Amino acid sequence: MVDSIETPISRRLNSVKNIIIVLSGKGGVGKSSSSVQLALSLLNESPSTRVGLLDLDLTGPSLPRMVGLDLPGASVHQSSAGWVPVYVDQGRRLGVMSIGFLLKDRGDSVVWRGPKKDGMIRQFLSEVRWGELDYLVIDTPPGTSDEHISLLTHLHPLFTPTKSRPTTPSAVLITTPQTTALNDTIKSLSFTRKLALPVLGLVENMSGYVCPCCGEISDCFGRGGGEDMAAKNGLPFLGRVPIDTVLVGLLDAVSKGEVPGAGVEDITMDGGAEANG
Ligand code: ADP
Repeated sequence: MVDSIETPISRRLNSVKNIIIVLSGKGGVGKSSSSVQLALSLLNESPSTRVGLLDLDLTGPSLPRMVGLDLPGASVHQSSAGWVPVYVDQGRRLGVMSIGFLLKDRGDSVVWRGPKKDGMIRQFLSEVRWGELDYLVIDTPPGTSDEHISLLTHLHPLFTPTKSRPTTPSAVLITTPQTTALNDTIKSLSFTRKLALPVLGLVENMSGYVCPCCGEISDCFGRGGGEDMAAKNGLPFLGRVPIDTVLVGLLDAVSKGEVPGAGVEDITMDGGAEANG
């Protein structure tokens, strides 16, 4: 194994052990919520695990709200060594970077063409001072658009494992069991294959509805479509997450500031997910 040519991005991300890119073919399937839950679950690995969450949904950033950081005081600091992410917890184990923190008014819309998006993504990858991270979870917009192409182009030098960074970026696909979502997920999978991005597996979100009264699960969007798709395409099936009103309530409470962002310890996938092995 030899060390490949360094770029400002690979130099910056050398201190990140694992990069996980979260993809979905369709919007609204729970990609951002899954990114947050994935980051929170990874924090549970050990008390010293450090995770970064990078929001590349430039036109619809939702991570600040989902982690309880959609607050006037939550902003990114520029230091001589780069942008300091916004931390969810006092222990600085979960840092978040999003264009949402850079907008003067959180309600501002971002109307950018490809080159401007590309510049922003390059800056996010090369200038955020994450420090030593065990995982960087990157939430992307739905589909396979400018943002995905920019991201993977800039990450390309990291696709060659080196002595100092033996793991390469990989993806997790999020879908619902509905046929339309599954059809779009196939396109995301094809994208990963064209760009030689390894896929860790697929999550079937909104897989059934948990009755808040009796806890019974009804399959309103169907069930098992994601698992079938994973099997047919040789992908690991990571598990299914039902529609859970508790999760909706928690996300709403966090975004309204009723539950502090440090509720980080309280929200994990353990409650609703059926993990697969
Ligand atoms: P995407 O990033 O794919 O557009 P989001 O993560 O923003 O989707 O989710 C869309 C909406 O669905 C959000 O309001 C989120 O809280 C909700 N949601 C996602 N997954 C679940 C789930 N398993 N149970 C209940 N609500 C969910």
